[in-house]
Amino acid sequence: MKQKLIGPFTQLLPMTGIAVKGAVTDEELVVIKNGGIIVKNNTIVAVGPYKDLLKQIDIKNTLLEEVKGDSVCLPGFIDSHTHICFGGTRANDYAMRNAGKTYLEISKAGGGIWDTVTQTRKASILELEEGITKRANKHLKNGVTTIEVKSGYGLSVYEELKMLRAIKNVDNKIKADLISTCLAAHMHPKDYNGTASEYLKEISISLFPLLKEERLTTRIDAFIEEGAFTAEVIAPYFKKAKEMGFTITVHADQFSTGGSKVAVDYDAVSADHLEASTDEEIKILAKSDVISTALPGASIGLGCAFTPARKLLDAGGAVAIASDHNPGSAPMGDLLTQASILGTFQKLSNAEVLSGITFRAAAALSLKDRGALNNGFMADFIAFPTSNYKEILYLQGQLKPSYVWKKGTKIDF
Ligand SMILES: [Zn+2]
Repeated sequence: MKQKLIGPFTQLLPMTGIAVKGAVTDEELVVIKNGGIIVKNNTIVAVGPYKDLLKQIDIKNTLLEEVKGDSVCLPGFIDSHTHICFGGTRANDYAMRNAGKTYLEISKAGGGIWDTVTQTRKASILELEEGITKRANKHLKNGVTTIEVKSGYGLSVYEELKMLRAIKNVDNKIKADLISTCLAAHMHPKDYNGTASEYLKEISISLFPLLKEERLTTRIDAFIEEGAFTAEVIAPYFKKAKEMGFTITVHADQFSTGGSKVAVDYDAVSADHLEASTDEEIKILAKSDVISTALPGASIGLGCAFTPARKLLDAGGAVAIASDHNPGSAPMGDLLTQASILGTFQKLSNAEVLSGITFRAAAALSLKDRGALNNGFMADFIAFPTSNYKEILYLQGQLKPSYVWKKGTKIDF
């Protein structure tokens, strides 16, 4: 395959030279004026001023893919936390919640997470695949080239397998990359005949080996919360997962604290939510290598406080930002809009928000080949129709990318 020179971009932000942890100012962002990218075999081989790249290429062996008009080029966005494999809708719950109904009243009316579990179990694998494809392709159009997708609405060995197989099948078919995670420990299923510990034991004995065998995921997640799983109950489950070589990630500190300590204790790659984290949790997270993932979509969906991203960054923590796209608490599913809004409420710089949805999100998924425009990295990048990168977050998600390249190929939508 011939190499390609793509550009010129009015501004090109490679998102390189910034640490994974800590606060960042916009002055620290590298901005290449009239930049270009050379791509070969899905991979970036050079990034720099377009004129310099033109001089260094062998023109006979290079295709020129010209970009016309104003454009700001960034790495493809990464959404490191979603639940886009589900059946049904929770529009009724949303209306009831906003009308002041309590969790219990919504549950009695047939709503709540159990409704999604029921609808997901009812759905065929093909129906689940259709839903994932539709949501992932919308994300891709909005510049999200890598998307994490969790199971967790099956809550039995058979139904969790169905979800994870659906995610894998869609990953093989669509252009965006899907990174799957097993969230069988989302809640204690109310139809399970046994305790929470017995449920987790059954999952670890019967499901974990199949995840390996079918290569369905390398990641195990759990919801640590009062009313879901406590630190004590999850201990043998995470221990077993680690012994088998799975990477741990945690739903932590959403309504009550405790989860972030579990994340640190089990060397989780990320602790996600953290809306309830206090100075104590912020301190232990910032000291660790755990990526703290803010989920502004859940705060917007529930009308709750945002993750203390400013404090986490100032304490030296690493902050990724993800959509948490799910039918219950985060129905919007628009990563850029949510990240922009988090920035206004938490007083984050452009550099911090953009880092949170690029290379810091890649770190939350243990991905070392994307999230920045570096030589040797996957050629995933996007271009916005503007001449100033600050317009992107300023327009709060309403400015969409005009072009998306996945593995070096411009996608036709
Ligand atoms: Zn979640």
